[in-house]
Amino acid sequence: MNKNHKKKVRITFYGGIDTPTGSNFLLETGEGEQAIRILIDCGLKQGSRICDDENWQTFPYRPEEIDAVIITHAHLDHTGRLPSFVRAGFAGTIYSTHPTKEIGLIMLEDSIRVLTKEAHECRREPIYNPDDIKNTQKIWKGIAYHESISFKNGISFVLRDAGHILGSSMVEFLIDGAKIVFSGDLGNSPAPLLKDTEKVTDANYLILESVYGDRKHPSKEGRKEELEDVIENSVKKGGALLVPAFSVERTQELLFEINDLVSHGRIPPVPIFVDSPLAIKVTDVYKKSGAYFNKEARYIIKSGDDIFKFPNLVFTFHHHESEKIAETPNPKVIIAGSGMSNGGRIVRHEQRHLPDPKSSLLIVGYQAAGTLGRELLDGAKKVRIMGEDVVVRANVIDLSGYSAHRDSDGLFQFVSDTADTVKRVYVVMGEPKASLFLVQKLRDYLGVDARAPKRGETVELDL
Ligand SMILES: [Zn+2]
Repeated sequence: MNKNHKKKVRITFYGGIDTPTGSNFLLETGEGEQAIRILIDCGLKQGSRICDDENWQTFPYRPEEIDAVIITHAHLDHTGRLPSFVRAGFAGTIYSTHPTKEIGLIMLEDSIRVLTKEAHECRREPIYNPDDIKNTQKIWKGIAYHESISFKNGISFVLRDAGHILGSSMVEFLIDGAKIVFSGDLGNSPAPLLKDTEKVTDANYLILESVYGDRKHPSKEGRKEELEDVIENSVKKGGALLVPAFSVERTQELLFEINDLVSHGRIPPVPIFVDSPLAIKVTDVYKKSGAYFNKEARYIIKSGDDIFKFPNLVFTFHHHESEKIAETPNPKVIIAGSGMSNGGRIVRHEQRHLPDPKSSLLIVGYQAAGTLGRELLDGAKKVRIMGEDVVVRANVIDLSGYSAHRDSDGLFQFVSDTADTVKRVYVVMGEPKASLFLVQKLRDYLGVDARAPKRGETVELDL
């Protein structure tokens, strides 16, 4: 195509600005009949109550004018407004990898109960209902990594492995020979199960997440050995070991690691419960997704080891099965949601076992301010659980080598791989402090044109 007729591409940053949640970007090109409008993610703003106006607002674009939505991964802050969007009139196609579609739908269904409860508390109708999810499912198309999808006037995209959770992807657009990459959330490779985040070396524009833009993770070295020590010590003490864990990725990573420790006789026999219906459903998706795992995990599966099945592992799906865990004498290990102890079945186990000095609480993920998990991590000696004061005598252990997000250095490295070709980096999906820190670091040390866009700002890209 003649250089003078290069298409104009506009990106509007509707969500995921000044916050890591609510990811939502619009890419537009062409005019009139030739116009194409594609959304990247349609996420729920989290950390606030569902009743907050933001999740109820009408969409800032006309749903019927959007041609497609591309979902980077299954977390609700990237998918959670899809059912409302479909209800509001979107009739195009939703694209994602197959696991993102499957886990995404499981998570949307799982969210209904909490959303409905919160909506009723503030006398509003829930933002979506099971029918909206069914209608979302009908227009959701799973595709493979690297499968090229083309739109009407020569615009195409592929998904690349982001290594964040199962099926997570970056979106790489090819428009008039220029490459525009939306990072989605990037993984903290190497991860126990997933392949490493794919390298991007020839992007012209990058829309980059910055959840941990200003932080450094502790080393991943030795995390499995630490986990081994924690389980061993807990069995020796004869208490319960509680592990609040996110239902997607963290639970499956832990099971994979524990399976390895069990198969090599590195931990004594102890009952291990996975007490979360959501985690159990998601684990079923992982069980059939071996092709998405890294070489080591695939090798172990190929050698005949079922990584999600080992002696003494018990999945407690139904409520009555969960109740029975209390009847199993200590020592035992209980992995349950929610990952920050702000709901889910873990809370009941915490109420029971935190006063016991023989028991332990193992923190394996990020704990947001204001959550019970954060209070416990910060060393609270007394907490309130389900309206009751609970004294904390259990040992609280922080094992932080398992983050699913790249840290500041990892994000910097990701950009440096494509620093030669990139014209501008838009830093998004972080608290302002994190985004601005990363912007400055990219400018100072890589000399790239980096900036943090404002919410609702539209930029025109020079292809
Ligand atoms: Zn995520």
